[in-house]
Amino acid sequence: MKKIAVASGKGGTGKTTVSLLLTLIASKKYKVQLVDCDVENPNCHIFLGSFPIKKEKIGVFYPVINLEKCSFCKKCQEVCEYNCLLVLDDNVLFFPELCHPCKGCLFVCPEGAIDEGKREVGDICWFRESDNIYFNYAVMDVGEARANPLIEELKKNLENDVDLIIFDSPPGANCPMVQAVNDSDYVILVTEPTPFGLYDLKIAWSVVNKLGIPAGIVINRDEGEDKIITDFSSQENIPVILKIPFSLEFARLYSEGVIKADFFPDIEEKMFNIIESI
Ligand code: SF4
Ligand code: SF4
Repeated sequence: MKKIAVASGKGGTGKTTVSLLLTLIASKKYKVQLVDCDVENPNCHIFLGSFPIKKEKIGVFYPVINLEKCSFCKKCQEVCEYNCLLVLDDNVLFFPELCHPCKGCLFVCPEGAIDEGKREVGDICWFRESDNIYFNYAVMDVGEARANPLIEELKKNLENDVDLIIFDSPPGANCPMVQAVNDSDYVILVTEPTPFGLYDLKIAWSVVNKLGIPAGIVINRDEGEDKIITDFSSQENIPVILKIPFSLEFARLYSEGVIKADFFPDIEEKMFNIIESI
């Protein structure tokens, strides 16, 4: 099983387009799972026609302090990297919006004064688009600040019987992006041939490079003037693996929620080359 993450330094560069084209094309030969990790704003489902076969609320751990057992030793406060706990003389304050549910506090409490609470953070949905396409996405609840627990949950729900898993990563180069691309075999960095595109590509590449994952660049909305990206590609030794031409008709269909795998006939072979080269 191969895992490919599709990432970009900012939203709107065509990450979803590439993830969907890759999924639809790859499914002609392989069993594929598409995982939309952009949990703040998932949108792959808009382009796929199926209905969810399952939907579940996702809850994460939070510490519930039992003040009757607590000795106010501050061990939980000291172990918490995120300053979520403040131990006073006769109370323990908890700041849930800072909590990365690591359970460190639960493990160090010498009095067994911390119980496991569960806080709902969003929903996860399962789809079966066709015999060869599984699809999952998750969406954060309104007001929820942290995407990582949902991405973690999505990554716990990978199918065993697929040949290829495609992660549509959240935009940017932040914790959610790292969580989405981490443990992939390959990262496709989607960009556009503009100074903004280059700026964000550099940031995304710096993260992927640090993670030590091989990567290639896809130039989206290419109109032949892409020297700004190809220069960077040569300088950093990252191959440009695909160019998707600019097309008003493709953009019009996209705006109506339609994506056609065979719209650009030339890219099918290149996409199979990418998959088979990993
Ligand atoms: S570690 Fe346990 S006993 Fe110590 S302050 Fe925290 S909750 Fe109370
Ligand atoms: S679960 Fe982790 S982050 Fe949350 S309060 Fe406990 S130690 Fe802090």
